[in-house]
Amino acid sequence: MPIKFTVDEPVARLAERVREFVREVVLPEEQACDGVLHDGPEPLRRRLQQAARDAGVFAPHLGLDLRGQAVVFEAAGYSLLGPLALNIAAPDEGNMHLLAKVAGEDQRKRYLDPLAAGEIRSCFAMTEPAPGAGSDPRALTTTATRVTGGWRIDGRKWFISGADGAAFAICMARTSGVPGDAGGATMFLVDAGNPGMKIVRNIATLDEGLFGGHSEVLFDGCEVGDDAVLGEVDRGFGYAQVRLGPARLTHCMRWLGVARRAQDVALDRAASRSAFGRPLDELGMVQQLIADSEIDIEAARALLWRACWELDQGRPGAQHTSIAKTFVAEAVHRVVDRAVQICGALGISADAPLSRLYREVRPFRIYDGPSETHRWAIARRASKARAALR
Ligand SMILES: Cc1cc2nc3c(=O)[nH]c(=O)nc-3n(C[C@H](O)[C@H](O)[C@H](O)COP(=O)(O)OP(=O)(O)OC[C@H]3O[C@@H](n4cnc5c(N)ncnc54)[C@H](O)[C@@H]3O)c2cc1C
Repeated sequence: MPIKFTVDEPVARLAERVREFVREVVLPEEQACDGVLHDGPEPLRRRLQQAARDAGVFAPHLGLDLRGQAVVFEAAGYSLLGPLALNIAAPDEGNMHLLAKVAGEDQRKRYLDPLAAGEIRSCFAMTEPAPGAGSDPRALTTTATRVTGGWRIDGRKWFISGADGAAFAICMARTSGVPGDAGGATMFLVDAGNPGMKIVRNIATLDEGLFGGHSEVLFDGCEVGDDAVLGEVDRGFGYAQVRLGPARLTHCMRWLGVARRAQDVALDRAASRSAFGRPLDELGMVQQLIADSEIDIEAARALLWRACWELDQGRPGAQHTSIAKTFVAEAVHRVVDRAVQICGALGISADAPLSRLYREVRPFRIYDGPSETHRWAIARRASKARAALR
């Protein structure tokens, strides 16, 4: 079946409304706070989300397939605050998807409904300090042991985005086996305020644009009931893939919006600034930077859509998702870097948005699977596919 590279008219119109909302409402707010959200400014979040409701663009992802999300999320990603305003930012958007697929009816009412309405926030707690889970989730050391009427969770997590102020965490813990085993993980819904779950610190990081920042979280004798199990016991690694496949792509969509923004800033600067008697955009080497970024953006979008198509057809799409994630993360970084170069000293100053964007895009080459981990998986799948033909 040929890949469809268009979206239906209502989705195209929705994307246009999101572009307009970001331009008119969100960008001015971003300038006021410089896109810094690590301290979790709740009044700003509420104001932006109310404005999105009023504009009819709040939570637009519900009911869209991934290609539809691609155009809408890219439009929202043009501002660092756009996804927050529309309630399609990480980690909540990925958690909504996971809960919609896996949660029982009571869990949906308690967690998914208020999350989708923007009344609460959430976090996803999988990564651990060494020697625990990171690129290799099987290294999971956090344990959940059976107690009367439920489970007791013990372990340490870090880089948990949005944990500070989240109403609940989805915590991955080992219910059977030992670190290194491919199975034996379970997901638990842990309410904020549980005396066994403590935020140890908020980690100072290069990026500052994710609401609530990234926390180190300690689970110390954290007791939860049986109703806290998300899905089935010991199936956590499988559910992580349910979350991560689409979540990788939605991250690509949002960051593609950032790439477009950086390129637009560079184009405006190159048209208005002259050197050696000519506007910068008439100088060959600047034109090359501009052209390379256009190529990167188009190629990134095409690979992203290719992966979306696979998932929209109900196929796992692991290879296409890995290829898209690796390319988009690196292409977005290149585009922002070239934009900084074209803008000269202005590019690295806080007078232009580029230095903020530069800091925000760098971690994307690490989370949702580092580039090297994806390349390793891509090569292994390619070798296996070839071997099957021999
Ligand atoms: C900004 C940010 C937000 C995050 N948010 C969350 C969150 O909300 N929840 C959560 O659970 N985690 C989160 N993380 C953690 C993220 O998922 C991990 O950083 C990621 O999985 C990598 O794990 P690690 O940092 O332990 O790196 P390690 O596993 O220590 O890997 C280090 C490096 O080893 C190399 N490497 C790894 N595998 C291979 C391979 N197969 N072949 C060759 N080289 C390889 C890569 O260069 C990699 O960067 C976040 C991270 C960042 C930076």
